[in-house]
Amino acid sequence: MSSVPSKETLPDGETVPLFTLENARGFSVQVIPYGATIVSVRAPDRQGHFANVVLGLPSLEDYLGEHPYLGAVAGRVAGRISGARFSLDGKIYELAANDKSNHVHGGIAGFSRKLWAVEKAAPRSLRLSCISPDGEEGYPGTVRVAVTYSVSDDNALVIEIEATTDSPTPFSLTQHSYFNLAGDGDTLGHELQILADAYAPMDEDLGLVGRREPVAANDFRQPRRLGDAIPQLFRKHGDLYFLPPADPRALRTAAILRDPGSGRALTVKTNEDCLQLYTGAFLEGRPHAGLCLECEGYPDALNSPHLGDITLRPGQTFCRTTIYAFSTF
Ligand code: BGC
Repeated sequence: MSSVPSKETLPDGETVPLFTLENARGFSVQVIPYGATIVSVRAPDRQGHFANVVLGLPSLEDYLGEHPYLGAVAGRVAGRISGARFSLDGKIYELAANDKSNHVHGGIAGFSRKLWAVEKAAPRSLRLSCISPDGEEGYPGTVRVAVTYSVSDDNALVIEIEATTDSPTPFSLTQHSYFNLAGDGDTLGHELQILADAYAPMDEDLGLVGRREPVAANDFRQPRRLGDAIPQLFRKHGDLYFLPPADPRALRTAAILRDPGSGRALTVKTNEDCLQLYTGAFLEGRPHAGLCLECEGYPDALNSPHLGDITLRPGQTFCRTTIYAFSTF
């Protein structure tokens, strides 16, 4: 869980700086503009000892290589689009099938592979932006996006996403950090609560099948120890949950993660429609070293309009907020 040095360069010579956002209590978040990636989050335990509570990679070179979206912003659509195609306003769009027969996390060179521009850097916040041109990864419309990370006085990481488009397009990003509140080892002793009573079933390839069902073996409405719950989950992977309606996009608590060993707790608040739990079951060589609590829209909404709407249209401004608030108990 180390972090990259303060500045490194891409193969084309472009510099990638490392930003550290820190509050007066020493809570800090480090970000590189490549992939708008969070490389570390340092939070105190119940004794006041700080540790990095997200998975990171040792160098920029590692981030440029293959990795499971560690800390990156995934999009233009985060999650899986079934069959790697969708139709919008009567036209069919074909995308890269980069995950079996499905399209995942925006394709081969999605938002996690972009060098984002630094719009505004302050001691406690960082605003990054990028432009995704019309046709990129098969998606229609030029999209302009800004992601702002900020740290609050009370140890919360606030993530604000804004976007506009010049043509209708599916659009739904997520912050793809893997949390480990112990700062080391695995997360099987963590307790997880997810405040959702419905989820989206998947097929064997983890493609969404277009249904909404009441939670069953994957019910986390009461806190459960992950080591006990994971064997009962489909492919031990974790599901996409439908959060209760938030109208007009009010923030509500979606999940609470607690590590009894360190006494660290994480409360996830969002005004997104869904939360994807990914248990980290497929992390190579270190399953369950971290877990993702990804707030996003329903990724396959264009193929299953009865389950959500992620279409961004010209004249609209997309605005979503997710907060990862750290505390101790
Ligand atoms: C998905 C997992 C996938 C991981 C890395 C998660 O969001 O749910 O299935 O393995 O991202 O791509």
